[in-house]
Amino acid sequence: MSLIVQKYGGTSVGSVERIQAVAQRVYQTVQAGNSLVVVVSAMGKTTDGLVKLANALSANPSRREMDMLLSTGEQVTIALLSMALQEIGQPAISMTGAQVGIVTEAEHTRARILHIETDRLERYLNQGKVVVVAGFQGISSTEELEITTLGRGGSDTSAVALAAALRADFCEIYTDVPGILTTDPRLVPEAQLMTQITSDEMLELASLGAKVLHPRAVEIARNYGVPLVVRSSWTDDPGTWVTSPKPIGRSLVNLEIAKAVDGVEFDTNQARVALLRVPDKPGVAARLFGEIARQKVDVDLIIQSIHEGNSNDIAFTVTTPILKRAEAVAAAIAPALRSHPHAPAEEAEVMVEQNIAKVSISGAGMIGRPGVAAQMFATLAEANVNIHMISTSEVKVSCVVASAECDRAVAALRSTFEIEAVQEDTETERRGDVESNFPASPPLPLSPSHSTPPVRGVALDMNQVRLAIRQIPDRPGMAAKIFGLLAQHNISVDMIIQSQRCRIVDGIPRRDIAFTVARIDGDNAQKMLSQAGAELGWGEVVLDSAIAKVSIVGSGMLGQPGVAAKMFEALAQNQINIQMIATSEIKISCVVAQEQGSKALQVIHEAFGLAGSEKFVVPA
Ligand code: ASP
Ligand code: MG
Repeated sequence: MSLIVQKYGGTSVGSVERIQAVAQRVYQTVQAGNSLVVVVSAMGKTTDGLVKLANALSANPSRREMDMLLSTGEQVTIALLSMALQEIGQPAISMTGAQVGIVTEAEHTRARILHIETDRLERYLNQGKVVVVAGFQGISSTEELEITTLGRGGSDTSAVALAAALRADFCEIYTDVPGILTTDPRLVPEAQLMTQITSDEMLELASLGAKVLHPRAVEIARNYGVPLVVRSSWTDDPGTWVTSPKPIGRSLVNLEIAKAVDGVEFDTNQARVALLRVPDKPGVAARLFGEIARQKVDVDLIIQSIHEGNSNDIAFTVTTPILKRAEAVAAAIAPALRSHPHAPAEEAEVMVEQNIAKVSISGAGMIGRPGVAAQMFATLAEANVNIHMISTSEVKVSCVVASAECDRAVAALRSTFEIEAVQEDTETERRGDVESNFPASPPLPLSPSHSTPPVRGVALDMNQVRLAIRQIPDRPGMAAKIFGLLAQHNISVDMIIQSQRCRIVDGIPRRDIAFTVARIDGDNAQKMLSQAGAELGWGEVVLDSAIAKVSIVGSGMLGQPGVAAKMFEALAQNQINIQMIATSEIKISCVVAQEQGSKALQVIHEAFGLAGSEKFVVPA
């Protein structure tokens, strides 16, 4: 017998008939010998309808009243589903978030869960009742007992938090799609259903999977090791399992950690190889990393940024023992990458830097929270650590610094983000045993030992624009200034890349920094940074809105040479130029021209063998 939390989304409870179908499924799960807590969303598009009503009355409705309003949607569904269950002879009782004791911060419309009382739930479960809980809502921890909501899409978060608090065997998210797909089926009909994915991969794929599964729900599943499955309400198909490593005995108090960063990692065993002034045309990265992969050299970070003129710099890091081999490959290839055969100054050049270290901060909490990267840069600036390279992904920011400064950087970051030093071990633990939390039942389609593919999914983001700031003085504190300003204006930054090329202008060494922001923030950011530049001494701020970002994600790429090369090769073969590259351990992102975005997605998806023979039919 298992304790299961099931969650049904709006479409799954969108009508009387559908509520009856859900009641049947719940009933059968109980008949099979399980105890059940059921979390539901508001029926169909109810929440959208309520938002519309509010907007008809006020351009800026109070957040407290929004919570009062929106929380009613779920209350309708819990009562109706309980009635439907009772009607077929299944004892059931409905409860609002407040009645359960889903205690949250007093932050209206975006509250995080602090803890969940389980006594009353457990009492009903012991009486053989199914408890039907309203998703998306809670009660504030303050004296006033205010009704709060968790933010749009928050019922997933309620469900996984309940599963964590009750130490349920697993959590099932029922929805109108069959699970998580390898890419967006509207762009690539050959997208396939994944049988499983790790929570870390899921978080890096946030832009792909956020509609199916709230990132905060994935964060809780990861932190508490809750096995999670996303499956269709309409079929008995097994869906996609989201797996997490065994938890580290985390307390259930402050359940949805308010911390944006939960790990500081470093690696002093790194060296950097940079290829300067390679031609800005398709195929260059493919050629370089193809050759590197053939030599079985495993690269870690890869960075390519943009420049004035028509050449690029590509840099990558490797572990020190293989530096010689990596350098030899780069040196062998450099002469062939000459952009202007008759201008030796323009010749590609290899630059090696040995005594460097990588320091990273990581945490699912940084998704959608501006200012985390800025805080990292500010901390490094205060510690007087200069940043040589920056590379970012959804849940991680990595900086390359001089290895002599590594200890100082790590100590400063740990103190800023309140991370205890033990975190390193848990990081390795985390990665070591990723398939360990499969529930004993129901039986799984794949054995847990099934090997991890190098790439799990491919995502395309067309909603970003790129800003490039020219000629930023190369000294500690500049990155902190720039990203601090953006954070102050509540602008989230996605990919950040600092160029390799250093130019002396007015006697000061300078570099460019390029980064991407959401499309709607582009003009604002450009205006604000141009103004600030006059005072802080940087050059032009260039906006390019015709870009797309395509990313591959997979924990199987760790320690496996050739994955990046394959991605770049697929782009090269299709004459798609790579404008920028940034990587984390389990993710590689490339910026390409916007009109080539969906083609890029298709060819990469295909190159990694993710395309199936059957076309996926997108549900209406
Ligand atoms: N009903 C809420 C929404 O539409 C919460 C949810 O369904 O997850 O955002
Ligand atoms: Mg949802």
